[in-house]
Amino acid sequence: MTATIIDGNQLAEQKRSEIKKRVDELRQRGIEPGLTVVLVGNDPASTSYVRGKEKACKAVGIRSEVLRLPKETSEEELLNHVRRCNEDPRVDGILVQLPLPDHINEQRVINSINPDKDVDGFHPISVGNLVIGNPGFLPCTPYGIMEMFRAYDISLSGRHAVVIGRSNIVGKPISLLMQREHATVTMCHSRTKHLKAFTKQADIVVAAVGRPRFVTADFVSPGSVVIDVGINRVESGKLVGDVDFEEVKEIASYITPVPKGVGPMTIAMLLHNTVWSAERKAGIATGS
Ligand code: NDP
Repeated sequence: MTATIIDGNQLAEQKRSEIKKRVDELRQRGIEPGLTVVLVGNDPASTSYVRGKEKACKAVGIRSEVLRLPKETSEEELLNHVRRCNEDPRVDGILVQLPLPDHINEQRVINSINPDKDVDGFHPISVGNLVIGNPGFLPCTPYGIMEMFRAYDISLSGRHAVVIGRSNIVGKPISLLMQREHATVTMCHSRTKHLKAFTKQADIVVAAVGRPRFVTADFVSPGSVVIDVGINRVESGKLVGDVDFEEVKEIASYITPVPKGVGPMTIAMLLHNTVWSAERKAGIATGS
């Protein structure tokens, strides 16, 4: 059996058209949602992600601004830029592109973002709300994955989900969100012994490892759902995921490709969060 391929591009397209309608409604009320992205330095991957975010904002009518700062920017200067955005009423969402240069304390910068504008969902207040189950900004990548489950009617209740990776931006929040939907979640990481023994038992595997084609066919059981978060550039210049797509698609029931899987949904959920922030300010927000 070959897996159903979860089409992140098509889902993101649908999301964008829903978001565009919400932007139009806001505009009719005289509100223009705005996102400010702060990019420090010129890391090629970060530069390309930021360009993608800018383009996506434009396509749905969100006003976007990119603050491109040199890599020598001091932490204090960066904090001052964030403070200005915090106070600017035209800015509904602030995103500081990670990673930051080594001389800057990332967590300090994240902590300085106004939690009402934390569209990346990395501020401790957003993280706390996620843990408790309060409404709040959800981090875009895990949020996008949850939207994929919803769109493809993949039920989580009572199922065993195994997450490989425990980062703050992917592994931890996706584990919490799946648990919220009543999955039994196992979190694995680099110190996990007998990793395959866990993944083989899983109904759902989420790979957020950052290692090309790490999850091979012998990791998964027939019929499982495999979500590939990884984005790895291999020597040939090609982008590949953390899952060996060609092998695993012959065993899984559903699988996300790389590219055109989780990546486009991540950007779509950033747009959603920005619009939700503007709606919340206007007192017309629903959901989270
Ligand atoms: P991190 O490097 O922060 O985390 C990787 C995790 O994988 C860590 O928890 C690490 O364990 C674990 N790990 C590493 N090696 C192994 C191993 N051999 N066995 C088991 N676990 C292991 O990465 P991120 O979570 O930020 O990102 C993961 C991947 O997802 C990357 O490829 C990244 O580019 C991609 N990504 C894609 C996004 C998208 O939009 N599609 C968005 C964000 C990330 P430990 O904690 O013990 O070190």
